[in-house]
Amino acid sequence: MSDITGHGETGHCPEEPAHYPEEAARCPEDTSHYPGEPSGYPEEPSRCPVCPHSCRLKPGDTGLCRARHNKDGNIVPVSYGTLTAIALDPIEKKPLANFMPGYRILSVGGFGCNMYCSFCQNHDISQAGLKDLGRHIEQMQPAELASLALDLSRTDHNAGVAYTYNEPLISWEYVLDTARLVHKEGLVNVLVTNGNIRPEILKKVLPFIDAMNIDLKVFSEEGYRKLGGDFETVKAFIKTAAGSCHVELTTLVVPRLSDSEDDMEKEASWIADIDPDITLHITRYFPQYKMTDTPPTDIALMHRLKDIASRKLHRVRLGNV
Ligand code: SF4
Repeated sequence: MSDITGHGETGHCPEEPAHYPEEAARCPEDTSHYPGEPSGYPEEPSRCPVCPHSCRLKPGDTGLCRARHNKDGNIVPVSYGTLTAIALDPIEKKPLANFMPGYRILSVGGFGCNMYCSFCQNHDISQAGLKDLGRHIEQMQPAELASLALDLSRTDHNAGVAYTYNEPLISWEYVLDTARLVHKEGLVNVLVTNGNIRPEILKKVLPFIDAMNIDLKVFSEEGYRKLGGDFETVKAFIKTAAGSCHVELTTLVVPRLSDSEDDMEKEASWIADIDPDITLHITRYFPQYKMTDTPPTDIALMHRLKDIASRKLHRVRLGNV
C-alpha cells in the first residue's frame, strides 16, 4: 500500500466533499419519483430499499448509483470492500470544525453515487461503475481497515475511519461492518454523506457513527430534483442524525441553484429549530465537471449569506473563500 500518512506520497485522495455521478438514466426502469414521506416508498423484493430512487432490479441489473446490483435475487453492494481512495486527512477537511479538532482521520472512498450533480468535484469516482474505474483500486475488508486505523492511531494521531469521497451509504453494509470493528478498537466513525438515504438504512448504521458532515445542497424540493435527490428525505435524515451524533452541514453555493438569500434565511431557520449550535459550512463553488462555464461564486455574496445564516445559527463558517 502507498504511504497514506502524509509523510510521503499521498497517492489518490480526491477532494472533499465527494459525491454525485453523471446522469440518472442508468436505472433499468424509470424510478425517478420522489415520494418525500418514508411511507411512500414502495416495498417490493425487486426494489432496492436504500434510497428514494427505489430502483427496480431484475437479476443481473445494476442500480442508478452503479454500486448495487441484483445478484441471484438479492440486492447487494457491488462495491463492498472496493476502495478507490484511502488517505489520512486532517479531520477539519471533512469538513468537521467542532469534532476532535487537531486529529487526523483515515478516510476511505468507494465508487458510485445516488445523486448526479453537474458540479461534482469527485466525478471520476462518483460517476463510475466498477468497470469504468480508470484508477488504482484496492480491496480492503473491514477487519483490515479497522486494524490499519488502530495502527495509525498509535503513530499518527488518527481518530478512526471516515467514510467519504463518494456516497458511502450506497454500500452501507461495508460501513456497518467496518464501523462495528472500529468502535471495538475504541476509535470513532465519521460519515460524509448526501443524506439522500432512507430512514431504515440510516437507523442501521447510526448507533456506530460518532460524527457526520451532511450536505444540504439547496433548500428546495425543486433544487433537489435537479440533482437526483429528495428534499424531504434529506431533511428527515439530518433531523434523525442530529438527535444521535455530532452533525455539521455543508451548503455549496452554486450560482442559479443554491445562491438565493431568501432560501438561506429559510435554511438557517430550519436548522436553528433543530439546534442553533449545528455548524453550517457555506462553501464557495468553483467550475467543475460539467459546469465549466459558470464562474466561481461571488465573494461578496458568500459574506452576505454568512451574515444571513449567522442571525439564526451560532456556528457558520465560510469555505473556499
Ligand atoms: S442505492 Fe442505488 S440501487 Fe439502491 S435505490 Fe438508490 S440508486 Fe437505486
